[in-house]
Amino acid sequence: MRAPYPPLPLNELSRQRLIDAHPCFVESNTDAFLDEVVKIAALYFNTPICLITIVERNRQWFRARFGVDRPETPRADSFCAYSVATGESVEVCDALQDDRFRYNNLVTGEPGIRYYAGVPLVLEGGLVLGNLCVIDTRPRPPMSAADMAMLQQIARLAIARLDEMRTAAFVDGTTGLFNHAKLDEDISDALERGETALAVAIELVSPAQRNDMLKSLGFQFLTDFTLSVKNTLRSLLPASWELYKISTLRFACVVPGDQLEQAPAVFATLAEAFSRPIHCQELPVLPQIGIGVLRLEPDQTPDDWLRLIVCAADEARKAGKGWSYYDEQMDAAQQRSTRLLNDLADAVRAHDQLRLVFQPRVDLHSGECLSVEALLRWTHPTLGEVSPAEFIPLAEKTPLIHAVSFWVINQAITQIDAWRREGVDLKVAINVSAEDLNNDHLTDEIVRLLARNELDGSCLEVEFTESALIGDFSVVITQIERLKAIGVEIAIDDFGSGYSNWSYLRDIPANIVKLDRSFMDDLQPGGKDWNIVRALISLARELGQRVVAEGIETEQTLKVIRDWGCQEAQGFYISRPLETGDLIAWLEQQAGSSLGLA
Ligand code: C2E
Ligand code: MG
Ligand code: MG
Repeated sequence: MRAPYPPLPLNELSRQRLIDAHPCFVESNTDAFLDEVVKIAALYFNTPICLITIVERNRQWFRARFGVDRPETPRADSFCAYSVATGESVEVCDALQDDRFRYNNLVTGEPGIRYYAGVPLVLEGGLVLGNLCVIDTRPRPPMSAADMAMLQQIARLAIARLDEMRTAAFVDGTTGLFNHAKLDEDISDALERGETALAVAIELVSPAQRNDMLKSLGFQFLTDFTLSVKNTLRSLLPASWELYKISTLRFACVVPGDQLEQAPAVFATLAEAFSRPIHCQELPVLPQIGIGVLRLEPDQTPDDWLRLIVCAADEARKAGKGWSYYDEQMDAAQQRSTRLLNDLADAVRAHDQLRLVFQPRVDLHSGECLSVEALLRWTHPTLGEVSPAEFIPLAEKTPLIHAVSFWVINQAITQIDAWRREGVDLKVAINVSAEDLNNDHLTDEIVRLLARNELDGSCLEVEFTESALIGDFSVVITQIERLKAIGVEIAIDDFGSGYSNWSYLRDIPANIVKLDRSFMDDLQPGGKDWNIVRALISLARELGQRVVAEGIETEQTLKVIRDWGCQEAQGFYISRPLETGDLIAWLEQQAGSSLGLA
């Protein structure tokens, strides 16, 4: 025979949600206060066992226990589940005489329960978490009314403590503000009441800035800065907008449904206030604020709204927009980025997704092609061709870029070796990222592969952009010098784009400067780049560097830069990047042509 399954309360789903939202109720670390509570009850009632139980989906968890070793039992065997179902106290004087429990495993087996008295632990709002119960292995007469009142009184102590734990789990220790768990609960409550609201995430600094602050100024500084930001936010937000702290230097607030109209003006005020430095420990810190906003409506709110407002805040910060509404396209972009990054890790290991194509570069005097630039191509199994301009910047934010660069260098050297065997003598320029030059690994790999294939370093050129110098300058220079020492040529790529600093031309011991293709778009007398390009060519030449113009699309541009002394050129006018086989055909055909250089 089996005991019947205990009944379920009517509000079982809300009860479960509450417990799910509060890991503190079912944590396995003991709580000194609750431990004392069960001891007092066991002493007072003179029972061998006393428990504080939390009745979950399939088990009852002992949040505090006296006289029992095991931490939980199945819900099917729970006496407390009866009291949870009705919200009333339950007393069983002899379990063997009670049809509900006669065949219960805890009665027929260990610990052999005969007497049980339990009172429900009811939270504000009427949800029953579990019970405080005293248990004996011998039958007992019914408890006196005074004793029952005492058991209920002790249960109130337990409830007060559980409530305290719940509140603590909702509060951020540093700021005393409510945290993301409370935000989540407040929003669910508001939506259940049929209200509309704006959920707002406020990000104060970029992850990199936060990291730098922590590393250079320490935890105490970060804490002080957080408190100072909290005070500023509190003073700028309307009093009825609850402020939360949802993660390090990331806050959130809820705009009540009746104040949606005034919200944009408040966001603009915040963005304006945080566009100036905040002084903390007398140091000025310039925040990079991003505010992400999403309107939440009953029955139309996505489960992951919290993630969405954080994404929106991040985007607003990156775009320097101050604040913006969440939009689906942005999320699609975010999801695509995450997917590409995940899949790129597989692509590097697969044999058929990545390949190199080669774009010829010609000497502007002889018209000869002496070198090619290796450009990475990725055919994604379902998304098709993905441009390196999309996936390289993503990979560069993660250690995955090293695997990509290793793949490229391996493939390029294998190709150079294969051409050598066929009698084709071409220098190959590969692109490496700033991160690749911040340590020895890539240089070590290049040295190893060249030696393995018995190739001279002069068959290779390494291109990188000025951003490489944002890292540790001396480490980068060491790598460059090591590569140059084995004959590898060094090129500064995309020079003139981004934060170009002309003194880099002097500071980086490069052999080649590649002028950014944006200069070539509109190269005409009187145009804004006309004098700059001419001056750059002459400066690089005076510093002893060879100048390569990228992005040459017309014969006219080609002639202009050649007349100014630019030595080499690359661009669609000469050739698009080519598959290996097409490159050989192009070279053969090229041997007889003059590219309009004559
Ligand atoms: P980049 O190194 O400056 O490469 C030149 C880019 O300009 C290539 O784009 C090329 O196809 C394009 N291009 C060449 N001639 C012309 C022209 O006349 N007009 C126009 N509009 N574009 C031209 P691609 O292949 O899409 O590569 C984009 C960027 O991705 C590269 O810029 C480079 O920064 C990066 N990249 C490509 N392959 C690799 C790689 O193997 N490793 C790393 N780290 N980055 C790579
Ligand atoms: Mg390049
Ligand atoms: Mg370039």
